[in-house]
Parts: sequence; C-alpha cells; structure tokens
Amino acid sequence: MEKFEKLMGRRDLANFLTAEQFEFRDSVHRALSQHATPEYLREHDENKTFPRELIELMAQQGWFAVTLPEEYGGVGGYMDMIGMLEVMGYHSSTLARYWNINVNMVGGALVQLASPEIKQELLPKLAEGKTFFSFALSENGAGSDAASLRTSAERDGDSFIVNGTKMWITGSVQANHILLACRTEKGEGKHEGISLLLVPNPTPGLEVRPIDLLGGHMVRSCELNFVNARVPARQLVGDLHRGWVQLMGVLAKERIALSAIVVGAAQAALDQALEYARERKQFGRSISSFQAINHKLVELQTQIDCARLLSYRGAALLASGQKCNFESAQAKFFAGDTYMKVAMEGLQIMGANGYSMEYSMQRHFREAKVFQILGGTGEILRNVIARDLVG
Ligand SMILES: Cc1cc2nc3c(=O)[nH]c(=O)nc-3n(C[C@H](O)[C@H](O)[C@H](O)COP(=O)(O)OP(=O)(O)OC[C@H]3O[C@@H](n4cnc5c(N)ncnc54)[C@H](O)[C@@H]3O)c2cc1C
Repeated sequence: MEKFEKLMGRRDLANFLTAEQFEFRDSVHRALSQHATPEYLREHDENKTFPRELIELMAQQGWFAVTLPEEYGGVGGYMDMIGMLEVMGYHSSTLARYWNINVNMVGGALVQLASPEIKQELLPKLAEGKTFFSFALSENGAGSDAASLRTSAERDGDSFIVNGTKMWITGSVQANHILLACRTEKGEGKHEGISLLLVPNPTPGLEVRPIDLLGGHMVRSCELNFVNARVPARQLVGDLHRGWVQLMGVLAKERIALSAIVVGAAQAALDQALEYARERKQFGRSISSFQAINHKLVELQTQIDCARLLSYRGAALLASGQKCNFESAQAKFFAGDTYMKVAMEGLQIMGANGYSMEYSMQRHFREAKVFQILGGTGEILRNVIARDLVG
C-alpha cells in the first residue's frame, strides 16, 4: 500500500540492514498492521488498559528474544532491534517503549551485570515474554540529575531494607521485577554508593500507584513507594556501590532504541497528514496542491529521513561494539524534536479533524512531547554532545 512506502522498502537502509533484517522488519510490519489496528489502540489508550493481546503477539513472534544471548533463548542483534523498533514505533510508540524497557534496558543490564543464577532464572522467561520488568531510576528530586537519587537500601543480614519513592516508572503494574537504582552507601560524591537491586513485585512494603499522564495510557507510569521493603541480598545486580558507572552503558543503548521508535512514530504521523492532505478539498482543489502545505510535507519528510539515518548510524556503532555516546545523544534529541514538529504541523494540516479524537493525530500530538523529556531531555542530550564538541 502506498501509505507505507515511506516506511518500508527503503533503499537508504541497504547500507545498514541485511536482506534477512529487511525481511524481519517487514514481518513485524505485517503482524502489527493486522493486530495493532487504530481501533484497538484507541480503545486501550482511552480506557487506559494494558494491550495484553499485543504483548502475547510479541511473545509468539519471538520479539522479546531480540538482542538477548542465544544461550538464554535470544536471537538477533542491535540491527535487528533497530528495524523492529522503528516499525513497532510506527504502529505504537507506547508498545515499543514497553519492549525497550523490558528487553533493551533491564534485559540488557541483567545480561551484563546479573549473577548466573538470576540470568538463568529470568532471561529465558523474558525471551519467551513470560516475565516482565520495569526500570526505576527517577525520583521527584532526581530527574535529569538522576545521580542525586535518595532511595536507600540498607544491609540487614542477608537482605536490604529499601525506603524511598521513585517516580514515573513505566510498566510497574505488570512488572514481575523492578530494577531499582538505590543508594547503598553515602559516598564522597553523588555518583558513588549507588547500587542496582532487582526487586520482586509484589514485595511487602512496596506500593505501586499509576500516575495520570497526557499520553501513552496503555502502559501506565507509576509512583513506587518503598517503606521498609525487604529485598534479599542475592537480588543485587552488578557490583555493590558501583551501580552508576554500570548504568551508563544501559542509558546509551536506551537512546538508540528510543530514536528508532520516534522515527517510526513520526513517519506514521506524517503519513496520516499526507493522506489527509491529498484527500481534503478546499477552494475546489486538494489542499496538498497548495505550496504552503506541500512544502511543509516535504520539509517534514526530509527531517524524518535525517533522523532515521542518525538513528541507524548510532545503531550500527552500537552493533559493532563502538562507543556511541555522542551519536546516540544526537539521534535521540533530533528524532524527539522531529516527532514533535511533525505532530504539530501534521495536526495543523488536518485542521479541526486533526484536533478531533476520531483521528490518531491527536494521539501523536500527546505522545510526541514525552520523547523530548524521557530517556534524557533535549537539553541534557545537547549538554552531553556539547561536552565532546566544545570541550
Ligand atoms: C511518560 C514518562 C515515562 C517515564 N518512564 C520512566 C521510567 O520507566 N523509569 C525512570 O527511571 N524514569 C522514567 N521517566 C522519568 C524521566 O526519565 C525524567 O522525566 C527525565 O529524566 C527528566 O527529569 P524531570 O522530569 O525530573 O525533569 P527535570 O530534570 O526537573 O528538568 C526540568 C527541565 O529543566 C531542564 N534541565 C535540567 N537540568 C538541566 C541542565 N543541566 N541544563 C539544561 N537544562 C536542564 C530539563 O531539560 C527540563 O527541561 C519517565 C518520564 C515520563 C514523562
């Protein structure tokens, strides 16, 4: 269908993807076109209900296994991931974000850092989509400055006693375990004395409360309250007190994944605006024939293509084991700004229909904003780049 030409069969990605990876990307698109229909997505977004059927589909298709090591049932690498996430983001950025938290962030952290027992117990289940995670770093007083986190974990025999509050933690209602960044020691500096604990959910003393947000309602973000919650010491992930340094690799990977998700979502928003502009007639002609409209569409598509190339470039560096801090920050902030612009201009092109709840442009308008905030705000990512660029 013409509608998807901007997304599928892209010649410019031939430098990045193998024939097999293109086929995988196509298969994700075919499956989601059938099951993640606009009606299904709207119903779950409006009712704030978890898209169980889509999660089951993802599990059946083996998508939870992507990037995990083969010995735990995993398959494929970061280039498979990037193609999959772009297409998943095209259909639902919320669904793709959920995958990213489970597999790329927590799954990836467990692969790198967890004990053999934890890996053996949980990674095969994750690969099959039978266990779920959330990732708890942010707090009310520790957002961009995440290392100033205050949630504490004090050693008590063979346990840690956790106290504190985490904010905005996505997917915690469904999570069987929460990867928690907490302070295990008051070090010299704020980056020292942080550790990672894999907290079973539920745990006595842990309360999970969904927060109402502007968008992304299918997977709720939550406040987590820990009051003397006891977590077995064997649930420590990585080295005691060295959690901050160990988290850094996880965050760079997150930016690459988010940039691909956002590129897909921006393309979906543009495709909708384009289709509408072709069909909508005013003054006896299609509004896409007005230069004011078609130049806008051209500029937006060009910006999306730039964001896509930045995103695939970052993924290629990641896949070949190279450093990509700079490139991942570029890809993420540029893709986030692009999606926001496409959603704003796309809504403008659709006039009142863009503003109505009947079309999914309103969902893009609500969901785009979050990508300039989570996974590193646009300002923080520019700071990261400036440190390298300007010195
Ligand atoms: C829908 C959603 C889901 C989320 N999911 C998760 C999750 O699963 N797990 C998790 O741990 N967190 C999650 N977060 C939290 C997210 O990571 C934080 O919102 C983000 O890091 C920004 O922190 P903040 O919101 O506290 O903003 P602040 O850090 O308070 O920033 C406010 C403003 O100040 C600017 N600013 C701050 N410092 C600087 C600086 N040094 N230079 C220039 N500008 C600056 C920021 O860019 C921003 O514009 C989620 C957030 C949202 C909205």
